[in-house]
Amino acid sequence: MGLTGIEILKMLPKKNCGECGVPTCLAFAMKVAAGQEDIGACPYVSDEVKEKVGEASAPPIRTITLGSGEHKFEVGGETCLYRHEKRFEHPTGLSVMVTTEMNDDEVSARLSRFSALRYDRVGVELKADLVAVKDEGGDGEAFSSLLERVRSQCPDAAIILMSESAGILKGGAEACGDHKPLLYAATPANADNMAAVAKEMDCPLAVRGATIGETAELSEKLQGEGLKDLVLDTGARTMKAVFEDQVVCRRAAIKHKYKPLGFPTITFPCEMTRDSLTEAMITSVLIAKYAGICVLSDNHGDILFPLLLERLNIFTDPQRPMVVQEDIYPINGPEENSPVLITCNFSLTYFIVSGEIEGSKVPSWLLIKDTEGLSVLTAWAAGKFSADLIAQFVKKSGIEEKVKHRSLIIPGYLASIKGELEEELPDWKIQIGPREASHLPPYLKSWKPEG
Ligand code: SF4
Repeated sequence: MGLTGIEILKMLPKKNCGECGVPTCLAFAMKVAAGQEDIGACPYVSDEVKEKVGEASAPPIRTITLGSGEHKFEVGGETCLYRHEKRFEHPTGLSVMVTTEMNDDEVSARLSRFSALRYDRVGVELKADLVAVKDEGGDGEAFSSLLERVRSQCPDAAIILMSESAGILKGGAEACGDHKPLLYAATPANADNMAAVAKEMDCPLAVRGATIGETAELSEKLQGEGLKDLVLDTGARTMKAVFEDQVVCRRAAIKHKYKPLGFPTITFPCEMTRDSLTEAMITSVLIAKYAGICVLSDNHGDILFPLLLERLNIFTDPQRPMVVQEDIYPINGPEENSPVLITCNFSLTYFIVSGEIEGSKVPSWLLIKDTEGLSVLTAWAAGKFSADLIAQFVKKSGIEEKVKHRSLIIPGYLASIKGELEEELPDWKIQIGPREASHLPPYLKSWKPEG
């Protein structure tokens, strides 16, 4: 059970100095209790307090980190069962598999796709995260050379090293250096050797039992031996069983604080079917229902892209609107005679409108007004995109120094504020743009200034 803000406050020095970036100790304590600040941000708390608060406020599902630096991949850290209760913290990692038994062309094709398949959506880069490197015949040399190819062709991929041999995993972990891989996997038969390698190499270790019960027992044993960073594979390889296990693990960890299952999970849709569409369907269910990592057999764009979109939707923080910064955005190299458009800062609106302007190839200025992430009509109804606020923004934005004309294009849905806006901006002519962003290209191509 986490500590309350008042309990945390009792452990703070109560100087109210603001050095933590929060004006008072009470406000800071509340933020720590809500998981919005780290106790370490107060320079005056003792190590003992840091440890106590850190332990009490640790998420019931441990955060596991793979990779390094800017290519760090995190999984786990979850604190709730349902997204609307707070948010889901770390998106399900999507992994492609390469094995020592694959021919060179197949390996190259998969690794090339891993590097090439990147999509920009509402300002976020969507891509697969991990490459699972699997030893199939116990050949350490073949495993090392496969790993070397993965590291050089996909330097930003987090790595899963898969072998029955602790020695081969150790060699792989050494080759990865600081770019920490996940070692897969400790089983009841090899747990001691795998645990020794994981400890020596300071790498997270996957734990695989034949059932969820056996996985929990093994996890408990390994924790007892001092291993902290575990990832769970409950051994299930059917849709129904793996789905049930993901739910049981999440509920046990979050509702019952059951520590042996308080780790992210790894799942293998690639081992549940040979049909790529069925594999995609299984993965989509597991993204929605708590899988930490899904290992796919391959990574074709027509399978990967919808999964990445689903993941983006599920792991977006429902309490924080996606916004872009209030500013003037030049598109297609505008100059002093280019059209000026204005819209809200809801990021989806921004990316759709800017995409259409870009597609039109008409040099334009796009003014983005802060509407706290609300879309055009919602912001207008909430009084955040009213004529007086738009006028204030236009005056202070600096657009008047960038263009000679005084014509402002407003969204078609705001036609009713034209008169009011012309009163607020007497030097400007207000033009009503199209209602739909998709109609912007023809509109802009025939646009003429009025002011
Ligand atoms: S830095 Fe520490 S003492 Fe100062 S206000 Fe923050 S919590 Fe209080």
